[in-house]
Formats: sequence, C-alpha cells, structure tokens
Amino acid sequence: MARVYNFSAGPSMLPESVLRRAADEMLDYNGTGESVMEMSHRSAEFQQIIDEAEALVRELYKVPDNYKVLFLQGGASTQFAAIPLNFMNGSGKADYIVSGQWGRKAAEEAARYGDVKVVANSVDKNYSYFPKTTREDFRPDADYVYYCMNNTIFGTLAPYIPDTGDIPLIADVSSCFFSQPLDISKFAVVYGGAQKNVAPAGVVIAIVREDMLGKARDITPTMLNWKIMADHGSMYNTPPCYIIYMCKLVLEWIKNDIGGLEAMEERNKKKAKILYDFLDSSKMFSSTVVPEDRSLMNVPFVSGDKELDAKLIKEAKEAGFINIKGYKTVGGMRASIYNAMPLEGVEKLVEFMKEFEKANS
Ligand SMILES: *Cc1c(COP(=O)(O)O)cnc(C)c1O
Repeated sequence: MARVYNFSAGPSMLPESVLRRAADEMLDYNGTGESVMEMSHRSAEFQQIIDEAEALVRELYKVPDNYKVLFLQGGASTQFAAIPLNFMNGSGKADYIVSGQWGRKAAEEAARYGDVKVVANSVDKNYSYFPKTTREDFRPDADYVYYCMNNTIFGTLAPYIPDTGDIPLIADVSSCFFSQPLDISKFAVVYGGAQKNVAPAGVVIAIVREDMLGKARDITPTMLNWKIMADHGSMYNTPPCYIIYMCKLVLEWIKNDIGGLEAMEERNKKKAKILYDFLDSSKMFSSTVVPEDRSLMNVPFVSGDKELDAKLIKEAKEAGFINIKGYKTVGGMRASIYNAMPLEGVEKLVEFMKEFEKANS
C-alpha cells in the first residue's frame, strides 16, 4: 500500500516508525497480553507509560523542576476558558497579543471572564506578520500576557519571546510543539493540543510553573482546574490513555531517531527553506507571509488565480500530496510540514509544483 504525503494542518502525519510500533504493540503491550486501549488507567503499566511521557517532555524541553507537566482534555480550545479561570484572578486583567485566529478566539473567550486588552494585533494585514511588542505595551498589573506562538492558519511564527517583565507569560504552542528548542523558564505556561505535532487528537500537554497553580476561581469546573489536575497526576478522571501512549512513542522518536530538539529544528529549517526558496523564485506562486516571521510548520501560498489554485490542489491530490487546500480566510494553498513530514515529502511537492508551473504558464 502506498502512503500519501499528508500536508494537513491537523490532525496530521505521524512518523511511520511510530505507527508501525503502535501496530506491533496493538494486541499485546509489552507482554501484558492486552492492548493499551484496554488497559486500566490505574494499572502499574499505564502509570509507567504516563510517567515516561512526562519524563520525555521534561527531557526534550529541559523543563525546570519548578514546573508541572499536565495532560488535559477538551483540546486547546477548552483551555481558552481554563486559562482565565485559573490565572486571571489578581487584578482580573489580562493582555493578549492577537496574531491570528487562535489568539483572537482565546482573547474572546477570556473576555467573558474579565478585563481583556488586545495590546497588539496584526489583523490590519490579514495576520501576514507577527506584531511587535515591548514591555511598555503591557499593563503592569495584568495577571498574564497571552499569545499564540505559531499561527497555524496564517503561517507566522513569533520571531521573539515577548518581554513582559514580571508579568506571567502564557503561550499556545499547539502547532509548533517540539519543533525546536524553547526556553521554558521564560514562560509561566506553555501549552498545546497534541494533534499537530505530537499525537492523534485527544490530549493537551501543559507545562505550568508551580506558583501559578492554586488561584483558580471558585466557579472553575473541577475538570478545568489545573491545580486539581496537577494534584491527581493528570488522572482526576480517566485520561485519554491511548493518546498519551502515542505521545510517548512520538517523543521517543524525537529523542532517539531524530536526536532531540536541536536536531529537530535543523531538520525543520531545512524542509521549510526548500519550500520558501521555491515560492520566492516562482513566477506563479508566492508566500503570503513576510520573510522574517515565516512559520517552519505551516506554509500558506497563493497563485492569485482561483482556477489555477483549484487545479493545483486537484492534481496534487492525484499525485499523492493531500490536504494542501488553504484555509478559507487566506485562500490558495497551505502546506503543513510538521515534524513527521519527511524531507523527501517536501522535495517531491516542490518538484511537482515546478512541473505544474511549467505546464501551466
Ligand atoms: C489547532 C489549534 C488550536 C485548536 O485546537 P483544538 O484542540 O482543536 O481545540 C488552538 N491553537 C492553535 C495554535 C492550533 O493550531
């Protein structure tokens, strides 16, 4: 069976070796005679799986000891409410940098719980750049500053970590999770859904500084209270056991097969460069993002001709490059080239597009 190159923005490709290992272990995990899908979350075997997944998160990101690692449910979108409920509890103010749709949604959700100020915004140019901020932009008494690091839809990556002084900084890293090293000590919270870069859909991984916990509002639903989740080792209720096991396999792949996050970054930069170099040299296609803020993971591009775009998307699919249709608010195409996309997939897509350009101009 031929596998396709899947350029979906999420859920997205998983490393083939991980899928094979999951298949090998499907009926009998590690001599237990049962599948992880069937396993009690209170068993010693599953405890070991979640402990190893956490240890890998800590090792890969060099997470300082005063941070908790949580496995949460409800997707990143649920955390848009959990974050204000847990953390917007001093002045009741929070400052948001809105660099795309996910940041806008997070700000709108938080505004239901308190005083949200959008301190920077790049909507004026359809989010084609990442807005710059300085420490003076933030309200000194804000409970936190929030931003989305990689904009999955618009294809920007924040080229800097905002300087917020003593104000806790919170980042949604859903679509750049484990794609490059990150200095966790600069953040109060780093969190993201797993389905872009870490696992199938079904779990959020949050890395949270301990002093942030324990201030949730009384009305916070128990399941959204990160302190309760931390106190119960992310197992207040039944966690998505199989997805957490998949996280463990993917993180092992990053550590052992790739060689850690520095090597992951190098590989991702190489892949992205091939695609951007082509777009910058093409007479038919162009990137929609300013060069200095371009994402390593999501690459939107356009031809400026809707019929040509549709033809490319159709012919690409027939050639085994699926899900390159762009998001409706950007149009054109988007190639998501997450960690698991092999270099060869990007090279072949570019070859295909060069041929397409020749044949259609
Ligand atoms: C996909 C995505 C989300 C939404 O994730 P869900 O798990 O579907 O709620 C939020 N933020 C970013 C950056 C994303 O890429």
